[in-house]
Amino acid sequence: MKAISVLGSTGSIGTQTLEIAEEFPEQFRVVAITAGVNLPLVVKQIKQHNPEVVALAEKSLLPELQETLESLSSQERPPKLPTLVGGVEGLKIAASWENADMVVSGIVGCAGLLPTLAAIRSGKDLVLANKETLIAAAPVVLPELKRSGSRLLPADSEHSAIFQCLQGTPWAENAHLSTGIPTPGLRRIQLTASGGAFRDWSADDLKKATIADATSHPNWSMGRKITVDSATLMNKGLEVIEAHYLFGIDYQQIEIVIHPQSIIHSMIELSDSSVLAQLGWPDMKLPILYCLSWPNRQETPWRRLNLTEIGELTFKSPDTEKYPCMDLAYAAGKAGGTMPAVLNAANEEAVAEFLREKIHFLDIPKVIEKTCEKHKNDLKSNPNLDEVIAIDSWSRQNVKELVSKDKNILTL
Ligand code: NDP
Repeated sequence: MKAISVLGSTGSIGTQTLEIAEEFPEQFRVVAITAGVNLPLVVKQIKQHNPEVVALAEKSLLPELQETLESLSSQERPPKLPTLVGGVEGLKIAASWENADMVVSGIVGCAGLLPTLAAIRSGKDLVLANKETLIAAAPVVLPELKRSGSRLLPADSEHSAIFQCLQGTPWAENAHLSTGIPTPGLRRIQLTASGGAFRDWSADDLKKATIADATSHPNWSMGRKITVDSATLMNKGLEVIEAHYLFGIDYQQIEIVIHPQSIIHSMIELSDSSVLAQLGWPDMKLPILYCLSWPNRQETPWRRLNLTEIGELTFKSPDTEKYPCMDLAYAAGKAGGTMPAVLNAANEEAVAEFLREKIHFLDIPKVIEKTCEKHKNDLKSNPNLDEVIAIDSWSRQNVKELVSKDKNILTL
């Protein structure tokens, strides 16, 4: 039985992790959960899972949560009410909860950085969905992983695929180490991409893209931010940087391949030219379960993959003109140091401005590019945590200023 702390329990990754714990109660027990503001769902999760600690990012909601729990009827009330904690300090407490064996990092965006670092520092195994943390702060996160001995298990479906393929190579033993040290014999990574919401739209049609269009994914059911990232293909760009840090592979050896069926979740090419791929239905529960049960395989009654039902698997190169975010991400990754943090924060802020109807979908890459450009002369190659946090806020502020002042670059 593994005890799990779930950061971001009310989100898409978090709720799917809790569903896995419900489905396999002999294997997994939820001892800690964290959320932002979604009180009704937190209360439901407390009743269902009876965690030992609950953290809310929004501290001011703690009294309301306490009151709601105390007013539950004796049938609904868990045998022991959880310890309630709040704010970033509260998230860090839940992330490093003593009784947890593993931490699932499913907070969205750089808000996950400090709790994820707390989990790493406590030496617990880390199931990483929150890619923004690694992208923004790899120069801090990688040495901390080495120091604490915490093992990083990638939950992102593409990185899980690569990780699973690596289990079949002589370098399997080190595949979870994320030291940024090259894996010998790994010649190329091919990251597959569904193509996102606009894969069948022309570049001209994108001028008409709305929030509703950008937040409906053809294959995956995910939170709003990552769904917009999939529509701009920034998600794939962020995954390129994530793969670079996780598997210690050069950017020239990471390729993006559009694969609309989302059945092959990524591929690795080895020194002898052999290519290994991992296949499955597009369902995040599988990579999450694999992380939770690694290095074992959990027996499941889940739907089996049937290739004859699918018929054909197709592939093509991505259109970098229609989707400039991919090149922005490669450039930021290659620049290294603080640049990925600037890219990530600018993207988070640009997506938030788009979802607030302040900018058009096509403005997202424009404000990111301007912000990265402005940072070029201030780039720090090996930033510490304070510097990462400072550069993250600078980047967000820069996007806000561009949106409010620099109307020339904006489509709206
Ligand atoms: P969601 O938006 O569905 O969920 C986000 C979670 O983070 C919620 O629990 C939310 O709480 C919490 N949260 C939001 N803001 C804060 C904050 N400031 N402080 C603390 N907690 C906060 O996101 P997803 O589950 O889609 O994505 C989570 C992460 O996983 C992202 O990094 C994403 O890139 C990655 N990922 C997601 C995949 C997916 O299928 N969804 C696939 C691969 C990676 P509340 O709602 O209570 O406010």
